Amino acid sequence: MILRLKKDIDETKANALGKELQAFVLKDNGSFLLVTPTKLKDVEEKYRSVVSENFVFNDDIQLASKKFINGVREIKISKDVVIGGKTNNTVVITGPCSVESEEQIDQSAQLCVKLGVKVLRAGAFKPRTSPYSFQGMGVDGLKLLDKMRSKYGLKIISEVRDSTHVQDIIQYTDIIQIGAKSMYDHGILKACAKTNKPVLLKRGFGTTVQEFVQAAEFILSGGNENVILCERGIRTFETKTRFTLDLCGVMWLKEHTNLPVILDPSHAIGYAYGVPDLTRACMALGCDGLLVETHPNPAVAKSDASQQLNFNEFTNLYESLKPIAKAIGRNII
Ligand code: PEP
Ligand code: MN
Repeated sequence: MILRLKKDIDETKANALGKELQAFVLKDNGSFLLVTPTKLKDVEEKYRSVVSENFVFNDDIQLASKKFINGVREIKISKDVVIGGKTNNTVVITGPCSVESEEQIDQSAQLCVKLGVKVLRAGAFKPRTSPYSFQGMGVDGLKLLDKMRSKYGLKIISEVRDSTHVQDIIQYTDIIQIGAKSMYDHGILKACAKTNKPVLLKRGFGTTVQEFVQAAEFILSGGNENVILCERGIRTFETKTRFTLDLCGVMWLKEHTNLPVILDPSHAIGYAYGVPDLTRACMALGCDGLLVETHPNPAVAKSDASQQLNFNEFTNLYESLKPIAKAIGRNII
């Protein structure tokens, strides 16, 4: 249950009540919230004088639930990059799977500038399936991304692979990405909860939407309100494509949660041939963002080579999204 305490209840009292009820204590709009275990369904008589409002839940989706916030949270990445809320914005995010060199990431940044894309994404710490594959440039890669941020005024998103470098990711990026393989990593989730930096949480490929949103609850209950969900495909019996993009799951997230949802067709299908049409389909269903991998020369990419679009393909795709956005009343940012 979520209890909103009356405005005159101070922090000391809120913390004492939180301890009694085994609750997370959060500050929200000038009052304190107690987020208790979900099994609590009633406000006991002795607490009624301090509680102004309460919300009851059937499962462990509380802060992310539409029953708590009946709308979509607004996530402000910068003055001109805002998603959710009442914006109707769809943020297009692109860049290579990995930062590989200054030349490569500079070319990617220039593509963003040319098209008006505001968020550049690339991995520096890569959680690869094999230890023999390229693991990313690490902090050197983050520094290159930071350089692109100041050189071109782009917003940066990069993924955290383990909790030891969360601070580096916070320092050099504007959005922290938690990858599909890390969705269950509580060290990462809890470290991300302690910052206000927006977090893009990707769905683990073997998780239900319930488990996915519960992972988001770790970040929200720890105090970070800025969580964005990302559907990037789940594992099914199908082997011809890399994963299966779960659009029904996306509909469920939109109906039941208050978190913005971004779609990642690139990792879902895993092959460039299908990315443009899939991205257009995702745009048409009305999402808060799209994540598409691009590379100056996909054939030589050090990770995810098969799925990245070249700049020409991406430019054509980007232009084709505009009439779709217009038709459904969304703004591409
Ligand atoms: C990525 O975004 O490059 C990536 C590794 O994605 P995922 O975590 O969805 O596999
Ligand atoms: Mn990738």
